[in-house]
Amino acid sequence: MLAGALGALPAWGQAVRLGVVMDEPRAILERIWTDDPRQTERAYCITDWSFGVYHISRTPPIQDDTVFRVFAVQDAEPTNATPNAANFECADGMPELHVHTPSTCVGDDANTCVAGGLNAFSCQPSRGDLEKLLARHDAFAVIQCDRRAFRFYYPSEYGPAPPLHLAKGPDQQPQGNRSPAMKGDADPLAGIPLTPGGGSPVTPP
Ligand SMILES: [Zn+2]
Repeated sequence: MLAGALGALPAWGQAVRLGVVMDEPRAILERIWTDDPRQTERAYCITDWSFGVYHISRTPPIQDDTVFRVFAVQDAEPTNATPNAANFECADGMPELHVHTPSTCVGDDANTCVAGGLNAFSCQPSRGDLEKLLARHDAFAVIQCDRRAFRFYYPSEYGPAPPLHLAKGPDQQPQGNRSPAMKGDADPLAGIPLTPGGGSPVTPP
C-alpha cells in the first residue's frame, strides 16, 4: 500500500484536485504559444469551466477527488506586461490562466531574455500568483509553461508547509534565497553567478 509508505495520513479530509484543459482551448493555446525569447507574459480569462467531485471514501477521513475542466478562454488584455509578470484582471467567477515564458531574463528587460535557461519552463506558481488566487477566491488558476504543459494550482498550496525530511548531501546546504526562481517573482536569481557542480539548491522549509 502506498499509504504505508507515506506514514500517518492526516485525519481530516483528503482532497485531490485535478485539472484538465479541454481540446478546444488547448488547441488555441498551443497555436498561440511561441518560443520567442523576447515575448512578454500573456494572460487569459477562463470563461467556461466546470468541476466534478468524485467521492472516493464517504467515511472519515473523507476522500474526494475534484476534477476541474476548462472549456473556453479569452484574452485578458494584460497591461504592463514584462517577461516575468503581467497585470490583468478577470471578472469575478472567471479563473485566470497565464503564461510563463520559456526564457530567462535579467530583470524585466525583454531585450536581455534568452531562450531556455534557469527560468524557462517554470511551472510553479509564484508567491504573487498564489496571493492573487486567494484574494480572488477562485477555486483554481492555471499556468501554461510550455506549448502543451498546463499546471493547475489551488488555494490549498498557499499555507503552512508540512514537515519535510530534506535530504542533505555533502555539498547540499540550505542556500537562503537561492531557491529556484519562479516566474512572476522579482527574479531572485538575477545577478547570482552559477557555480558549476554546486548541486541542486535546497529550498528551506
Ligand atoms: Zn506566474
